[in-house]
Amino acid sequence: MQAEGVQTHQMFIGGKRAASHSGRTYAVVNPATGKAFALVPKGDAEDARAAVDSAKRAFQDPAWRSMDPSKRGRLLNKVSQSIRERLGEFAQLETTNNGKPLGQAKGDVAMAARHFEYFAGLADKIQGSTIPVPGNRLDYTLKEPLGVTAHIVPWNYPLVMAARSMAPALAAGNTVVAKPASFTPLTLLNLAELCKEAGFPDGVVNVVTGGGEEVGGELAKHPDVELTTVTGSVETGMRIMELASTNLSRVILELGGKNPHIVFGDANLEKAAAAVLNGIFTNAGQMCWAGSRLLVEEGVKQEVLRRLVDGANAMKLGDGSKPDTTMGPLVAESQRARVASYVEIGTAEGAAVAAGGGPPADEALGSGYFYRPTILDGVAQDMRVAREEIFGPVLTVTTFKGEDDAVAKANDSEYGLWAGVWTGDLRKAHSVVGRLESGIVAVNEEPITFPQTPFGGFKKSGNSSEQGMDAVSSYVRTKNVSVNLG
Ligand code: NAD
Repeated sequence: MQAEGVQTHQMFIGGKRAASHSGRTYAVVNPATGKAFALVPKGDAEDARAAVDSAKRAFQDPAWRSMDPSKRGRLLNKVSQSIRERLGEFAQLETTNNGKPLGQAKGDVAMAARHFEYFAGLADKIQGSTIPVPGNRLDYTLKEPLGVTAHIVPWNYPLVMAARSMAPALAAGNTVVAKPASFTPLTLLNLAELCKEAGFPDGVVNVVTGGGEEVGGELAKHPDVELTTVTGSVETGMRIMELASTNLSRVILELGGKNPHIVFGDANLEKAAAAVLNGIFTNAGQMCWAGSRLLVEEGVKQEVLRRLVDGANAMKLGDGSKPDTTMGPLVAESQRARVASYVEIGTAEGAAVAAGGGPPADEALGSGYFYRPTILDGVAQDMRVAREEIFGPVLTVTTFKGEDDAVAKANDSEYGLWAGVWTGDLRKAHSVVGRLESGIVAVNEEPITFPQTPFGGFKKSGNSSEQGMDAVSSYVRTKNVSVNLG
C-alpha cells in the first residue's frame, strides 16, 4: 500500500511515461526527514534496452536527423526558458530529494538553464573545414552526430550534471538516454517532460531510473550506444570504461577529487577563509570539486584556522527548505556513515577535531542524515583523510613552508580536478598555477564555473572536459571527404 503523500513517478521512454517492464518500484527519501516521499520505477537492463531502441529509432528518423540545426538550437532555448519559468518548483524538488539548501538548489537550476542556453547557441555553429591537398581535388570534413549517447548522472547535482552533458549532445544532433542516480531521480524526470513540451521529437530524450550496474552498466555496454558520459566515482568510471571497451565506444569521465586550497601568508586571509568555508561546506561537502584539503602557510595557520572554526560553528544545519539553513543533510544514511568513519580514521591517524566531528545534538534533526561541518587539524600528507575522497563536510588542515612545498603537497594526490591559490603576489600565483596538476585552478577566487568554461580533471579525476565550446567536439565524429574534380 502506498503511504500518504507519496507520489508515484514514471520513467520516460519514446516520448511517453513508462513503468518498468517488471512493474517494480523503489522509494525515494527526503534526507532531511528520512521519510519516503516518492516512488520511482526500478528499471533494469530490459528497460535500458527499450530506451536505447527508442533513441536509435529517433536518431534515424528524419524528423530529428534532418532537422535544421538552428531549429535544434531553438528547442534547446525553449527548454532553458521553461526551466527558468519553473525554477522555484525544480529547486524545491531538488532540495527535498537531495537535501541542499533552497538557495543552492536555485543556483543549480539556473545553471542547468544556462547550459541549455549556451549550447543552444552552438547548435548551428558545428562545422567542418576544407583542407588544401595536392591535385585537382576538393577535400573537406563533416562533423556528424554520433547517434545514441548515454548520460550517467550522480546524486550531488542531479539536474545540473544531467543538463551539462545532455545539452551539447542534443545541440550536436545526438539522441539521449539518461540515467539519474538512484537517490535523486526526480528533477531529471521532470527535465525529460520539459524536453517533450519544448518539441523534441519522441525518443530523442529518454530517462531510465534504476540501479547503477543494472541500468548504467547495460547502457555502457550496449552496442548501439556510441558514447557514455559518466559523472561519478573513480570506481564507477573504471567499470564503465571496461564495459564500453567491448564496443570501443567513447567514454567521457568526470570523476572525483581531493582538491587543495592553497593559502599563502600574503593572501587576504579574511576572503580566503570565507572561500575555503564555502568550498568545503556548500552542498554539505558533497562536491567533486570541494576544496577538501586546506594547505596553509605555517605562519598564518592559527589565524586562518580560527576564522574557519568560527565559520564552521556558526553554520545553521537544518531542512534545506527553511530560509535560515546554511547546510543541509547528507544525501543518505550510508553517506553519513561514510563521513563518520573517515572522521574516526582521521583521529585514529592522529588528526585533531577542531570543529564538528559528529551529528548535531539538536533532536529536531534526529531523523535526518545530518553531520556537523568538521575540521580536522594536524593532518599529514600520508594520512588516509588527506588522500581519499570523503565526499562530505570534512576539511583537513595541513601546513606548508614556501612555494615548492605547497606545490609538492598539492600535487601529491592521485586526483587532479580543482585547486585554489590564495596570494597577494601575482607572480607567485602564475608560477604556482603553471605547476599544479589540476584541470581547474582558481586564483583568489571561490570555486566557480560557467557553461562557457571547461570543467574536467587530470589524473584519476577524469579523461575529458565538459562545458565550453570544445565540449561539443566530444559529441561529433569527423568524416573526411575527398572529391576528385579532374
Ligand atoms: P557513483 O559513481 O556511485 O554513481 C554515479 C552514477 O553512476 C549513478 O547514476 C550510479 O547509479 C551510476 N553507476 C554506479 N555504478 C555503476 C556501474 N557499475 N555501471 C554504470 N553506472 C553505474 O557516484 P555518486 O556517489 O553518485 O557521486 C559521487 C561521485 O561523483 C564522487 O566521486 C564525486 O567526486 C563525483 N563527481 C564528479 C564530478 C565531476 O564533474 N568531476 C561532479 C560531481 C560528482
